[in-house]
Amino acid sequence: MKILVTGGCGFIGSAVVRKAIARGIEIVNLDALTYAGCLDNVASVANSPLYSFEHADICDRAALDRIFKTHKPDAVLHLAAESHVDRSIDGPLAFLNTNIMGTGTLLEASRAYWEVNDRPAGFRFHHVSTDEVFGSLGETGEFTEETPYSPRSPYSASKASSDHLVRAWHETYGLPVVLTNCSNNYGPYQFPEKLIPVVILKALAGQPIPVYGKGENVRDWLHVEDHAEALLTVLLNGENGRSYNIGGDSEARNIDLVRMLCEILDRLRPAAHPHADLITYVTDRPGHDQRYAIDPTRVRTELNWKPSYTLAEGLEQTVDWYLQNERWLRALQNRPGVNQRLGKVA
Ligand code: NAD
Repeated sequence: MKILVTGGCGFIGSAVVRKAIARGIEIVNLDALTYAGCLDNVASVANSPLYSFEHADICDRAALDRIFKTHKPDAVLHLAAESHVDRSIDGPLAFLNTNIMGTGTLLEASRAYWEVNDRPAGFRFHHVSTDEVFGSLGETGEFTEETPYSPRSPYSASKASSDHLVRAWHETYGLPVVLTNCSNNYGPYQFPEKLIPVVILKALAGQPIPVYGKGENVRDWLHVEDHAEALLTVLLNGENGRSYNIGGDSEARNIDLVRMLCEILDRLRPAAHPHADLITYVTDRPGHDQRYAIDPTRVRTELNWKPSYTLAEGLEQTVDWYLQNERWLRALQNRPGVNQRLGKVA
């Protein structure tokens, strides 16, 4: 089997690429290498005969057509996106371009390839999306696959649009698709502008650890290796036209998550004062969704997937990885356009 993965040099995409190659699946990694893409994330598999890389933009139809023709993939696993909510507030148009027009262009290239090859039954277009398309929850309730869409940030609105496009290509043209909507990921190789690596970097530098508002926003946390496993499970076994919510069974308030990270750092990298002393509350993000929670019943009962990490185990493994890989962390931290964002956290 050969999968065309888009965004395979990013955080989640690279986890999927590493896992798929370990399973003997052939991978074509298509990535534009934006500020968030990093070839080091796939360095461990780059010499595998199962791996090839295509430096291309999903908005470039001619490049996509050439890549489909050259590699003849059996499936597309689409992760390439602009992914950071704060950036979408500062500059929404890049999100509309990549997440909406890019997905539309990729759908058209996939459809052309699928049609020209007499619509092979096994072909799949798997679109990777977020639970943020469903909006914000109060203190109770969970998102199911039937929850109406109610995106509230430019990022989530662009992802919601791309989900609608994928369903439309299925209904209108019959393109075989599956969709997944998952909660906040964490784990190794996450770009250092997202909450967990930012907390670790700030703590190591002895600088204030910024927490939005009162830190009471609740997120469900999913370890990236569990997500990668779920994505391969849905791609290979999911039902055509169906969507699956994927969650980590690990709800936490932001402030509690940050305190857990500080306690782990106190043990693994003790400092003169407890790291939690560095926690500093900062002005809240505009339109900050209060709570996300996932009902993962469908993927559990129909496809027999469940997360393997508890939050405590996953955070310990993650902090340990960042401490062992400080060189990777600091190389990305020093990329142009990144440092100034570290005062803001998701
Ligand atoms: P990321 O920002 O770490 O990586 C995105 C990758 O896509 C990068 O390698 C980048 O170079 C590439 N890319 C961006 N624009 C491109 C373009 N126009 N053409 C080709 N490549 C391009 O993102 P991530 O956190 O790994 O997220 C991957 C996917 O999962 C996204 O679609 C995101 O919406 C979704 N998702 C992420 C989370 C999360 O917690 N990180 C949660 C739910 C869903």
